[in-house]
Amino acid sequence: MSTYPVNDLYTCVQGEGVQTGVAMVLLRLHGCAVGCPFCDTQETWLVDAANEVETMAAAAGANARYVYLSAAQIARLIQVNHPGPKWVLVTGGEPAQYDCGPLVAALHQMGLKVALETSGTEAGHVGAGFDWVCVSPKLNMPGGKVIRPEALAVADEVKHVVGRPRDIEALDALLTAVPLKDDVQICLQPMSVSQKATALCLEVVQKRGWRLSVQTHKYIGVK
Ligand code: SF4
Repeated sequence: MSTYPVNDLYTCVQGEGVQTGVAMVLLRLHGCAVGCPFCDTQETWLVDAANEVETMAAAAGANARYVYLSAAQIARLIQVNHPGPKWVLVTGGEPAQYDCGPLVAALHQMGLKVALETSGTEAGHVGAGFDWVCVSPKLNMPGGKVIRPEALAVADEVKHVVGRPRDIEALDALLTAVPLKDDVQICLQPMSVSQKATALCLEVVQKRGWRLSVQTHKYIGVK
């Protein structure tokens, strides 16, 4: 039976990207080796046995604790404690380092739709049956992980964090190298809500007919 290290589970509203504003249950899986300097969930990076706990209540919150749960246990917790949203957002950490198939199947059995946020450096989501895949490609990060073409090829949304013009150039090179879905949506997201990055993103999305992704949760004061 597959189990997943769960770092957090709560009801929220998707704050960024194409699904902005949609009520979702956020399921944060623990563990990530990508090492983005701007990561706002650095507490999820290291799967340290010293931080493993026995219950979801003990793991919950922004901390380094996690609990191993089966797909069925996760689905049941969501059914009981988070009955409102029609969507579950699986994020991390890097959730695609795990085989996501059993998790998606269990959530589908509960009648839920399942979205994913991944860095594109792992492929555990390929063929897993997600209803929405958002790849936020993390290029040239300290962890040395590379974008896997098969991970990007199934994206419904490519959400790229942009700080400087060279981030756009890196995205262009990536999009040229990998075949994408015909209807994929490209979103540019200003890094750390900086004004300079926002101006650059605005200019490029208007030129190319792409989308701007603003981290609305940072404006309305929710996580
Ligand atoms: S891939 Fe995501 S979780 Fe991992 S370091 Fe980068 S921003 Fe953080």
